[in-house]
Amino acid sequence: MEELAVLAREVSACQKCILGRARTRAVPGEGPPDARIMFIGEAPGYHEDQQGRPFVGAAGHLLEEMLRSIGLTRADVYITNILKCRPPNNRDPLPDEIAACSDYLDRQIALLQPRVICTLGRFSMGKFFPPGSMRALHGRTVRHNGITCYALYHPAAALRDPRLKDVFAEDFRRIPQILAQAEAEAAKAAANSTELNAATAPSAPAPEQLSLF
Ligand code: SF4
Ligand code: URA
Repeated sequence: MEELAVLAREVSACQKCILGRARTRAVPGEGPPDARIMFIGEAPGYHEDQQGRPFVGAAGHLLEEMLRSIGLTRADVYITNILKCRPPNNRDPLPDEIAACSDYLDRQIALLQPRVICTLGRFSMGKFFPPGSMRALHGRTVRHNGITCYALYHPAAALRDPRLKDVFAEDFRRIPQILAQAEAEAAKAAANSTELNAATAPSAPAPEQLSLF
């Protein structure tokens, strides 16, 4: 079985924090295993909890509209959250819940190895960025284990405030450029390591090395 699917099954049975007890369905995340872009939101809401899928409510509709604006659909990207289960009444995630759940997200990132991680909202941003406000950090990037992380407002925040919606849309439209830059950096890094290998690889193994085996 595909590893992301194995992980999703584990998440669906998880009881590592109290959110496991109250959920209707866990929401592991979804998208193709070769997705270059990963979106990380906060936590499932009502509709996500009902359906077991991320971003299927109002915030999800805005996310889909934004994806369309850059020529993509949900099928092109991987979408998940910091927490895989819905907090009661959509309250903020608690630090111990984030800690309990982080291993799943770390494994998803390791399996997917996306070029770009787009964080949606402050909880997701907080995992990758140094401390700072959403207002200060949105539209900025940091590198995290070779992956470009790009901070975006949460679409639900954009829905609440029309001015933020414009900022969100503007940041979103830069994703193709951020991805192209990340791809170029990855290609350069790959070329450098090939060069390095060529430079350091002995043309023929020395006899004393051979004798070691
Ligand atoms: Fe497990 Fe995460 Fe759900 Fe808590 S939120 S029960 S850690 S999957
Ligand atoms: N908000 C989120 O952060 N995640 C979802 O999956 C839906 C709404």
